Amino acid sequence: MQTENFRDTRAWVFDLDNTLYPSEMRLFDQIEARMTAYVMQALKVDETEATRLRRKYWAEYGTTLAGLMAHHDLDPEPYLVDVHDIDFSVLRPDAELRARIKALPGRRIVYTNGSAPYARRVVEARGLSGLFDAVYGIEDAGYHPKPQAEAFGQVFRRDGLEPAGAAMFEDDPRNLLVPHDLGMRTVHVAPQALKAAHIHHHTDDLSGFLARLLR
Ligand SMILES: [Mg+2]
Repeated sequence: MQTENFRDTRAWVFDLDNTLYPSEMRLFDQIEARMTAYVMQALKVDETEATRLRRKYWAEYGTTLAGLMAHHDLDPEPYLVDVHDIDFSVLRPDAELRARIKALPGRRIVYTNGSAPYARRVVEARGLSGLFDAVYGIEDAGYHPKPQAEAFGQVFRRDGLEPAGAAMFEDDPRNLLVPHDLGMRTVHVAPQALKAAHIHHHTDDLSGFLARLLR
């Protein structure tokens, strides 16, 4: 890994789900189950159809919510409260990750397709409170989800972030396309590496990756 690639990085943008906690903690599974239940009740469909729609909208729009808003005029606020009403005790604080994020020079932000209040709860449960200059959710992007350029545009404008001096950490490779095109350094955080022109680095261990970068 080329540490020099990050020498001029002065802003660090972290996705939340399956990035700031490992997917093995299975927090997002709980959200998916609640999304399916919410779709069943809101659209009066059975579980099979709700699961199909949830996956279809996620694939087409980047989030299930964006599809529900586009096709069913769904009100996002009660949806976001409901699907994030989950058990956070599956998350464990990570002191090592905390120390490494804390050592990153410059601005540190979280940007998720979930809601900002939810993101703050996850950050707290991982023992990462107080490290981030800002936490942005989908509501800060006018409910436009990553990977849409409009979503990144709204959040980065709000933050005053200069993409050319910033790095983005994400588990969903789609969400690194726009950051790459904006001139950010992209880090794919996932168990499996993926060869793609818009991905500069891959790691299956965020904490270890940051440690090497800080050396
Ligand atoms: Mg994620």
